[in-house]
Amino acid sequence: MGAFLVWSLVVFAGLLAVPAVSHTNATTTFSLMASSMAFVCMAIAQFMAARPPFIEPLFGGLDRVYHFHRKIGISVLGLILVHYFLTPDFKGLSLTSGLNQLAASAGKYAFYGLSALLVLSIVKIIPKTKIEIPYHLWRYTHRFIGLLFVLVAFHQMFIKRPYDGTALLAVYLNAFAALGILSYAYTQLLPWLRTRSYEVFEVTRHDGATIISARPIGRALKVKPGQFGFLRVLKNGLREPHPFTIAGIEADGVVRFAIKPLGDYTRALRENIAIGDRLKLEGGYGQFNHRRGAKKQIWLAGGIGVTPFLAMARHLRGDEGQDIHMVYCVRDRNEAIGLETFEAQAAKLGNFSFVLHDSAKDGRLDAAKLAAGSAIDPGDADLWFCGPPPLREAIVKGLKELGKKPRRVEFEQFQFR
Ligand SMILES: Cc1cc2nc3c(=O)[nH]c(=O)nc-3n(C[C@H](O)[C@H](O)[C@H](O)COP(=O)(O)OP(=O)(O)OC[C@H]3O[C@@H](n4cnc5c(N)ncnc54)[C@H](O)[C@@H]3O)c2cc1C
Repeated sequence: MGAFLVWSLVVFAGLLAVPAVSHTNATTTFSLMASSMAFVCMAIAQFMAARPPFIEPLFGGLDRVYHFHRKIGISVLGLILVHYFLTPDFKGLSLTSGLNQLAASAGKYAFYGLSALLVLSIVKIIPKTKIEIPYHLWRYTHRFIGLLFVLVAFHQMFIKRPYDGTALLAVYLNAFAALGILSYAYTQLLPWLRTRSYEVFEVTRHDGATIISARPIGRALKVKPGQFGFLRVLKNGLREPHPFTIAGIEADGVVRFAIKPLGDYTRALRENIAIGDRLKLEGGYGQFNHRRGAKKQIWLAGGIGVTPFLAMARHLRGDEGQDIHMVYCVRDRNEAIGLETFEAQAAKLGNFSFVLHDSAKDGRLDAAKLAAGSAIDPGDADLWFCGPPPLREAIVKGLKELGKKPRRVEFEQFQFR
């Protein structure tokens, strides 16, 4: 639905360009169709980056919003290349005023800047090497795309155009200019507008993850089980916001995170976070919640992907009208977190069963083992998954081969880029 809406708005810009420049030639028409579509794409990308709450349901979660945002970036790169290399013929319209000439230069420099930043955003790993462009570098440079959008808006408003300022195309593009610029300004203010303050009161360095518990100072976040938030710690080296599932949510506003030390930030967090530290949290985001699923569900967690299930299992009361069988796959039992919660809920509730799959002891989890150990037939149920994508792909493929293809597969992506 979200994708259809966005591409419709983009294509409409391209179509509006046709009557506006029909008195010119085909090259000019294609060039201005491409630039109009690129401009609308850029404005929408800025809007998406502002994380408006109603956009998530349209795409099925913020992770999907960001994956689509990336597709828009790739389209912008293609479209601006078309606009740049198909030089429009302005039929004798010369760049007379100083403002026109400034707008032309703005367009040129914005093109160079955008091309460089978009390539940097799209290419995650440098080809033929295993070198990954560090996320913080990507994040830092990505911010400048908003400034370049302002430059492009200036270019499109003040460049001499082969159509009138009152033409529908001009009005349409100006509306998207306003949307994009306001969204960019809002994005820059997000840290002040949307975050809540918390204080850490417990830190446990478990084998599988660092467990952080924090209580709100003032207003608490509004979060549903299965959702995630952006966390940053007001401490040197830990200020960069990172997304983490809120693995525990208490009625008094206390939140818990389980964070696996996988990279620079998560390792530094493990080493340096301490009781009394202040957190800034923004959220809750995401649509990963079993309540909107079918009556029969299999939950499959791989490693640290257990965190959304931890919050969801803790909130089960037994009267959901849903039968749930959960499999938690770990490399080694010592890595498992929240076992006491899952086991206690399984003992207490008639609609929830739980199995720990310890790969060190039970071997690699495959579809046959999952189906054999499950109280619910996977072919008759939804599969809710969070964990490494290769595990999901192998299980879904295996279930299909066994003739037990789940009715629906819902999964949370632990990556935005
Ligand atoms: C919706 C969601 C929920 C998540 N929930 C959990 C959880 O409950 N527990 C847990 O341990 N992990 C969770 N993660 C993963 C966690 O965000 C990353 O492991 C962490 O940000 C990696 O940072 P790093 O610097 O330690 O690792 P790096 O090795 O530097 O980064 C590894 C990868 O993590 C991503 N990443 C890095 N920095 C950021 C950032 N600032 N913002 C967004 N992504 C970034 C990039 O894709 C990068 O390639 C979740 C991720 C998402 C998207």
